Amino acid sequence: MSKLRSVRRGAGDAAGDDLRAAVHFSESGQIWLHEHRMLLVHAEAQASLRRELIDTLGLARAQGLFTRMGYASGVRDAELGRRRAQELTDQDAFMTGPQLHTLEGMVQVTRVKLELDRLAGRFFGEFTWESSWEGQWHRHYYGIHEEPVCWTQIGYVSGYASAFMGRSILFQEVECSGSGDSLCRIVGKPVEEWPAEVAARYSAMFDREPIAEQLLDLQTQVAELRATIGQQEKLPSDMVGSSPGFRAAYQLLMQAAQSEITVLLLGETGVGKELFARTLHQKGPRQAAPFVAINCAAIPLELMEAELFGVEKGAYTGALSSRSGRFERAHGGTLFLDEIGDLPLPAQAKLLRVLQEGELERVGDQRTRKVDVRLVAATNVELQERVKEGRFRSDLYYRLSGYPIRIPPLRERKEDVALLAKAFLEKYSAKNGKKLRGFTDKAKRTLLAHPWPGNIRELQNIIERGVILAPSGTRIEVNQLFSSIATEPPREFGLGSDGDLRPGTPEAGRRLCEAVLNGVMTLDEVEAMLLETAVDKARGNLSSASRMLGLTRPQLAYRLKRLHEPAPGPAPDDDPPPDEP
Ligand SMILES: [Zn+2]
Repeated sequence: MSKLRSVRRGAGDAAGDDLRAAVHFSESGQIWLHEHRMLLVHAEAQASLRRELIDTLGLARAQGLFTRMGYASGVRDAELGRRRAQELTDQDAFMTGPQLHTLEGMVQVTRVKLELDRLAGRFFGEFTWESSWEGQWHRHYYGIHEEPVCWTQIGYVSGYASAFMGRSILFQEVECSGSGDSLCRIVGKPVEEWPAEVAARYSAMFDREPIAEQLLDLQTQVAELRATIGQQEKLPSDMVGSSPGFRAAYQLLMQAAQSEITVLLLGETGVGKELFARTLHQKGPRQAAPFVAINCAAIPLELMEAELFGVEKGAYTGALSSRSGRFERAHGGTLFLDEIGDLPLPAQAKLLRVLQEGELERVGDQRTRKVDVRLVAATNVELQERVKEGRFRSDLYYRLSGYPIRIPPLRERKEDVALLAKAFLEKYSAKNGKKLRGFTDKAKRTLLAHPWPGNIRELQNIIERGVILAPSGTRIEVNQLFSSIATEPPREFGLGSDGDLRPGTPEAGRRLCEAVLNGVMTLDEVEAMLLETAVDKARGNLSSASRMLGLTRPQLAYRLKRLHEPAPGPAPDDDPPPDEP
């Protein structure tokens, strides 16, 4: 083996022989160097790994990685060096490292100058390296490099010298075969004796960079940017659906987009009326102008007119300065008036005038201002009812209701739940920097079974919660979506849709336990709920309720009675205490 002979030629002396003797090829598939397990690896395979890391991580990161890897090897080999220092001079013992480095096939090391004193912590070393493994392969793949390239080897000798000396020793290549010199030449001394910038580069090399986190960060940023771009160019994530009800509403919306017609959006709370309004704005000729939204139900009555039409300074106590209203701010664009049924009558009159004349006066102002605004109104109440009750002007109603669009509640578009859930999952995963694998089958079923009284807004909130609670790399589970059994429909925690009680299913049981442990419910409340549900199901028939529960009738009666007692009392006097089932 030519490499072994090189020990003798280079750093080798008589001591090289007993190092070679310390290499042991065991029959059980292990190679030992003294007390450390070694690997005999193909240099070319190692070189192609090195190249791949440079190409994927970049030069600086790859350099750090290989320097640290070499350093770790050097530290281990220093154990042997320190052991031999008990018998040899410091100089000779130190040479164990260069000999091992040579023996391990990395490079042929020749001492130029070595002065050291372990006790005093003094160190200076200069060596030459011939046939450097790393220099040769680097040149092979990348040609002549400006800077020295024997990173693993510099890491090795620095690690070795530092561990041998018990203080930080830094080696640098002053010549390198990888950068065109005939051989590599290295110089080492305590890190403090190097110029500050060299020492700083050295210590930076040893900072492990959490590349996975940085990649995830970047990925998140990209996803967020994509989401923003998506909002600008495409429909928002909530404007998805393939159900006939949604498609019909969406088609009506698109047909109205290019016109100036006043659109009235009808639908329950949370069905996405504002999104429809915003989409109408974005798909129409006013898209470059402002979209202004206001919820009439959220504004105090006495401020409504000022909020909508603006106010002049001193118009009323508290009007400290003049300001424009929502109409003026939406000039050229679209104004969305949500819950218009809650608009007070005086404001209704003013609104009608804006719609008819295109002009308004601020509160407390004589001046008339022209405004050009497309109005989109929305309501979750029957406006006709309000007209009959005299709470809504009929002329305004007719003005607004020329083009009504009814947005169906989520329970009428069940086929869209999965689409929406997926869209929200993507949206909130990007927002929270999570990589999730979707929903468990159980979670999907629960999402589909839920009645969604809060419509899309409720679904959105639930998915956001699930994304936050589920660990990256997993699927969202039911209990990460629904906070407690209190918020769920009864069949989700023990009653099948067929009305059968299934209190023993593991999922239901687990959630019940969690509810109890989280203090959401007490044990007594759980029991009460169970018993009362059974009695309800049995329409008050205790015999049939007890059968559902797997209890005897006296056992059920006893438990019911105990539940309705003000305090835990003694055993009842009429019913015998039952045996536990
Ligand atoms: Zn080199």
